Amino acid sequence: MAAETKAKVIDGKAFAEKVREQVAAHVARLQAENGLTPGLAVVLVGEDPASAVYVKNKGIQTKASGMNSYEHKLAADTSEADLLALIDRLNADPSVHGILVQLPLPDHLNSELVINRIDPAKDVDGFHISNVGLLGTGQKSMVPCTPLGCLMMLRDHHGKLAGLNAVVVGRSNIVGKPMAQLLLGDSCTVTIAHSRTKDLAEVCRGADILVAAVGRPEMITGDMVKPGATVIDVGINRIERDGKAKLVGDVHYESAAAVAGAITPVPGGVGPMTIACLLANTLTAACRANGLAEPEGLTA
Ligand code: NDP
Repeated sequence: MAAETKAKVIDGKAFAEKVREQVAAHVARLQAENGLTPGLAVVLVGEDPASAVYVKNKGIQTKASGMNSYEHKLAADTSEADLLALIDRLNADPSVHGILVQLPLPDHLNSELVINRIDPAKDVDGFHISNVGLLGTGQKSMVPCTPLGCLMMLRDHHGKLAGLNAVVVGRSNIVGKPMAQLLLGDSCTVTIAHSRTKDLAEVCRGADILVAAVGRPEMITGDMVKPGATVIDVGINRIERDGKAKLVGDVHYESAAAVAGAITPVPGGVGPMTIACLLANTLTAACRANGLAEPEGLTA
């Protein structure tokens, strides 16, 4: 029998809805007062079905917030030169404030080269090396969407994060490392754990804030959680259980929720915040490009 849930459930779906409403209200003001409509260009190379779904959802939500959405679908065998030429055109287009190249790219394309061709001011994924450096040195940057969403939920739950012990399990460039930088920026004492970490359970038990970004279904169990801690589960894992397809996180929800003070569920936790933060980043980029005040509470 599943253990009784004790933790407060952090509702990422409802939070994302609030963020989208804030973005839409700000966009409406920009249009009315400045005649400016932010625009997001999404580039998809190839036919990967999961990527196609993400791109479609991004387009729908971008339009729903009042912004312009430009989709560029390129054939799987598109040459690097053609892709870079498209990015150059989007960089030069003043109606495009955000550019996102959907990853992963087909093997013949060099992702780093492609991402680093995007104008850093339009890099709404925050993956350009300039933005990575700016974030790492505590300067204004475009912040990767998933960690930004986690930070927003943590600030909302805790108020100030200063002095809290944060453990981030996972050191990828898209989640783990930027998440750790953001928590450091909010003056947490940060530990980054990974596959070589010794006694991961003991490290995790020291966390007031535990962020799991591992990509291993239900790996973080209740015995690894400090009583009362806040657990943010970034993981999205498709598994089969009792003959049915199921989506689970990197955290074993039932056992962790019995110990934690607050926890994000999967689905309905971090996932919905990622696209909401993409919209927020596009709005921020449009404001910065036009010398206008940035939206409050939607940036790091
Ligand atoms: P990566 O595979 O790039 O990184 C996984 C990290 O976990 C690595 O740093 C790895 O360590 C570490 N790790 C793997 N196994 C262990 C272990 N046994 N103990 C401790 N650490 C371990 O994954 P991503 O960061 O891209 O994604 C992480 C998860 O988040 C995935 O489930 C992904 O689907 C999900 N995700 C969700 C998003 C959302 O919108 N909610 C967005 C992006 C990702 P090492 O470096 O030593 O190999």
